[in-house]
Amino acid sequence: MKPVDFSTKLIDWYDKNGRKNLPWQVSDSYCVWISEIMLQQTQVNSVVGYFKKFIERFPTLTSLAKAETDDVLSLWSGLGYYNRARNIHKTAIVCFENHKGILPNQLDELMALPGIGRTTAGAILSLSDDLSFPILDGNVKRVVSRVFTIGADKSSELTKKLWLKVEKLMPEKNARKYNQALMDLGSMVCKRTKPDCQQCPFIHECKALKSNQIKLYPQKNKKPKQLEKTLYVLMVKRNKKILLQKRDNSSIWPGLWFLPVFSTNTELSNTISLQHGKIIETFSVQHILTHRKLTIEVTVVQFGAEDSIESIKGQWQDIENISNLPHPTALNKIVGF
Ligand code: SF4
Repeated sequence: MKPVDFSTKLIDWYDKNGRKNLPWQVSDSYCVWISEIMLQQTQVNSVVGYFKKFIERFPTLTSLAKAETDDVLSLWSGLGYYNRARNIHKTAIVCFENHKGILPNQLDELMALPGIGRTTAGAILSLSDDLSFPILDGNVKRVVSRVFTIGADKSSELTKKLWLKVEKLMPEKNARKYNQALMDLGSMVCKRTKPDCQQCPFIHECKALKSNQIKLYPQKNKKPKQLEKTLYVLMVKRNKKILLQKRDNSSIWPGLWFLPVFSTNTELSNTISLQHGKIIETFSVQHILTHRKLTIEVTVVQFGAEDSIESIKGQWQDIENISNLPHPTALNKIVGF
């Protein structure tokens, strides 16, 4: 299939079926950038609410650059992958200081910013300014590798081949519609499992469908083995407050608020024995991170109104106020909201 036939069919499909009312579908590179970062590893439906709140709180890149990191992280609580939020904040500061408070409109300048790779840069330029730059996110990889049955022995080779293909397919005009159409087709029709081929504009051309090889594309990289780790955490309660610590930068969840963590159960028990509190409950919670499976062993200790804790640094926080603090979702599981 010629590139022009591919893009024409795709855009026709988009005109009839694509998404046109997402809150970030505006000619504003700041909004497109924030949405693109939020959409990494997260579904559109889950992102809409977070995006609206974020833009309401930080309507411009300058307002984001001037924010405290903690405020940015709190609005990210629940989305996970907190490095994305930290990079967004760093990028806003760099643009404020070096690019007159706006995102640059050159591919290489965008890609030099924290957290912006080639796909995000291409999405910013095409979706906000209609400039002809290809993208290669998970949805695009799936559609293109299936329609043209593109594979390779090594994952780096595969990525190279796919980039070459999307460069060739990219039309000079209608970049905004075309890239949005590819992403929409991937997420709405050419789904990972059970693609709805009857609704696909490439039903007659798709090589994977013709050869009954849909399951083989996109080729899967070997996943790194998931590491297992146990954390021993202490939940100290006093009235309607719990003791939280701000995680340091070299730990899991850097900069987020969480319960005091101990590397062994003995260390945790020794700490409790120095205090006056009573153990009222112990339970365990499973939590999955990208490459790590955590078992969190929780010991709940009740303190009286007058008791103070000496050997653990931390701050007493109202349980009801936790949702306003930047915290990992694991804390929600433990506290029970
Ligand atoms: S025909 Fe099916 S497998 Fe092929 S691109 Fe369309 S939805 Fe995907």
